[in-house]
Amino acid sequence: MAKIGLEVHVHITSLKTKLFCSCPSHYAGKEPNSVVCPVCLGLPGAIPVPNKKAIEEAIKVSLALNMQISDKVVFVRKHYFYPDMAKNYQISQYDGPGTTPVAKNGFIKLRNGKTIRIRRINIEEDPAKIVYPTGSLLTSKYVWVDYNRSGIGMLEIVTEPDIEDPKEAREFLEKLRSILEHLGTCDCTIEGSMRVDVNVSVPGGERVEVKNIGSIKGVEEALKYEIARQEALISQGLPVKRETRHWDDVRKVTLPSRYKEEETDYRYFPDPDLPPTTITENWIKSIASSLPELPDARIRRFMVQYGLSEYDATVLVMDKGLADFYEDVLKIYYKPKEVANLLINDYLRWINEMNIRPSESKAKPEYIASLLKMMEEGVITIKIVKEILSDVVKGSDPRKLVEERGLTALRDQEFLMEVIKQVFAQEPDAVEKARRDPKVVNYLVGQVMRRTGKRADPYLVNQLVRKMLEG
Ligand code: ADP
Ligand code: MG
Ligand code: ZN
Repeated sequence: MAKIGLEVHVHITSLKTKLFCSCPSHYAGKEPNSVVCPVCLGLPGAIPVPNKKAIEEAIKVSLALNMQISDKVVFVRKHYFYPDMAKNYQISQYDGPGTTPVAKNGFIKLRNGKTIRIRRINIEEDPAKIVYPTGSLLTSKYVWVDYNRSGIGMLEIVTEPDIEDPKEAREFLEKLRSILEHLGTCDCTIEGSMRVDVNVSVPGGERVEVKNIGSIKGVEEALKYEIARQEALISQGLPVKRETRHWDDVRKVTLPSRYKEEETDYRYFPDPDLPPTTITENWIKSIASSLPELPDARIRRFMVQYGLSEYDATVLVMDKGLADFYEDVLKIYYKPKEVANLLINDYLRWINEMNIRPSESKAKPEYIASLLKMMEEGVITIKIVKEILSDVVKGSDPRKLVEERGLTALRDQEFLMEVIKQVFAQEPDAVEKARRDPKVVNYLVGQVMRRTGKRADPYLVNQLVRKMLEG
């Protein structure tokens, strides 16, 4: 069994400005190196000033993750020499003599009741982004550095090695992401806003760290690959050595990194430019009293208020965008179970197929309501619903689709009676039994549906078959 610990880096996307300067913290689509100032470029003499909102967000997350919150925020300098960090140190936090991270010792509970302990949360600045213009990290002849990302406020959330397999890692990250999205701390649909380092070992081997994985799916794939690689070495009697690797998301392999780092090289010490900020009990209390509804509470509410199973409620709430969408549909079409079934069984399948998050779907709540209403009225069948759902996810109005493509259910009674007569002629035994056994009526209805390519309105067919049986 593998042992897995995660170091999750998330941008605090709710911040308007960077962690220690007043540069805007949203840089998507901006010219490289246009959202910068002396502080985030690390110019000598520039003085950082901590963003109070960032500390508040860290406290929010700490409360949601059941952590013990420190009575002060201490920033340290973490030294290393690399082109993504012009001042040669990153402002971060550390658990050591005289220093402490903002919070320690929390946990997240998984579906099966298992607890994954969280060791600590650090507030830290993101380094600049390195671009590899002529290949990858390993092959590019030179690099470009974009300081727009430098100084963005981040939280680093570090787990204990309590995770045992890639699926558990995925579930943990999905729940963490849902908590962060419910808090409003991180909109994880923003490219690059969640990056994960995974640490993984198997019995008989040392721990390997795979750095900088950009998606939850990538974490799962990298772990599967790495566990197989390590187990293969051990079964051949070869050692798994302690090393840092990186994930090649194109070739789907982990590769040794050429750049080595040792913790002892970081020379952590408190940043003399940044005196500690005190966290008072009152500050924590006022933040705690304004926390929004969190995933576990929302799951329970969905079960009580909408009568959903725990499984269905969990699937919806594990993605805040999907849960919000579900409740928006209910505002116009209040059939909680029907809506949940359609979203979970069919809608989500297309979302996954298209490799997008639910909040990136172009479907409007009205569209889902229309689909279910049209089915309820017998205008379309479930088969048609499934057929057009992918276009609805891409933004098409289902009422228009049904009209343009002539997809309405067959309700032509004369035609349907013809089909029913054919079925009755070919199934005399079934007709005989159907007069006594309602289950066989369903069989006859099924035969009629089959002959119409499942296009007929099943309610109408049912009525007509009964009428034929009586008449
Ligand atoms: P470092 O400071 O060198 O990164 P830490 O002890 O802080 O090392 O641990 C970093 C991460 O590695 C944590 O998430 C931790 O849970 C994980 N980890 C520690 N020991 C192991 C192990 N034997 N196997 C897998 N992961 C581990
Ligand atoms: Mg580490
Ligand atoms: Zn700046």
